[in-house]
Amino acid sequence: MSFYDLWRQQDWDHLALTINAMTDSQVQRALAAPKLDWPGFLALISPAAAPYLEQMARRSQRLTRQRFGNTMGLYVPLYLSNLCANECDYCGFAMSNRIKRHTLTEQELDRELDAIKALGFDAILLVTGEHENKVGMDYFRQVLPRIKARFSTVMMEVQPLEAGHYGELRALGLDAVMVYQESYHRPTYGQHHLRGNKRDFRYRLETPDRLGEAGIDKIGIGALYGLANWRVEAAMVALHLDYLQRRYWRSRYSVSFPRLRPCTGGVEPVSPMGERELLQLICALRLFGPELELSLSTRESEHFRDNAMTLGPTNMSAGSSTRPGGYADPSEDLAQFSIDDVRSPDVVAQAVERAGLTPVWKDWDRALTGH
Ligand code: SF4
Repeated sequence: MSFYDLWRQQDWDHLALTINAMTDSQVQRALAAPKLDWPGFLALISPAAAPYLEQMARRSQRLTRQRFGNTMGLYVPLYLSNLCANECDYCGFAMSNRIKRHTLTEQELDRELDAIKALGFDAILLVTGEHENKVGMDYFRQVLPRIKARFSTVMMEVQPLEAGHYGELRALGLDAVMVYQESYHRPTYGQHHLRGNKRDFRYRLETPDRLGEAGIDKIGIGALYGLANWRVEAAMVALHLDYLQRRYWRSRYSVSFPRLRPCTGGVEPVSPMGERELLQLICALRLFGPELELSLSTRESEHFRDNAMTLGPTNMSAGSSTRPGGYADPSEDLAQFSIDDVRSPDVVAQAVERAGLTPVWKDWDRALTGH
């Protein structure tokens, strides 16, 4: 049994109708419950919950401070490669896009690590396109120890791997893996993933199961909001989390909220999610999982990040470059997606302090765990 079996039992259209038909009293009942269950979560992401956003935000803020204190973890994405053997029609790295492709050499990697260290970061998210042959396990085996020697927290967002490979990378110091399903709606998934291994919907959907089996400390999931009905996507993310937390209870979980943004390819969202709705989802997830890490990326605007940061999120990226080599040499090039909050890490940290939170650059030390 994997999450795939539970996913197959869901009826997308029925879920959409259920969420849309939620009433004021169902929302109030969900808000009054001591612990929010999945049906209650559906009520809080429904249109009927929109007038309760302030109340949800206050609850979300209180739960976040109780569990995480007055802190905000800061991390930086490091793009190791923009090679990709997939064709996702919403992404600037899609294989048919004629952009300059590059994978960092060891020397270039060291220059990037120097530049990132100088910005103050100690938590790093390694990102690649998905190119199994050229940027696969051999490359990860080569670069991970080099990176782990300099960063306390190393996370990865790369192509889905086998459980055995995750176990091997964990032994080399990998702390967390993010793998986003993009869409839990199979026809939509097929429509946007046109070529390459990523077309295998089930293999991707079962990746968090393999991460749990491999004992990865932190597992990040999410959907790309806008490809299909965002409320049903959010319902699927919550169902997935609930399943994972029960089954792989030793791992921690994090959720991100990427929204479909303009890029080469020009795919327009069919179910646009505005900032109010994004905040509604963040607060609903906090009420659903008080222990969840919620991550807000630089895809969101400075204004939104500054206003939402105290209401539920626990981690933020800052000063992001989506180009391999972009920290040591910050010249312009085609990016994977557009960045909205372009402030430097220092300026973001000052905004975090102004909001009454302490920026956390390092929250982990290998002396505590031995790896
Ligand atoms: S979303 Fe990922 S897999 Fe798809 S084209 Fe972009 S980099 Fe490649």
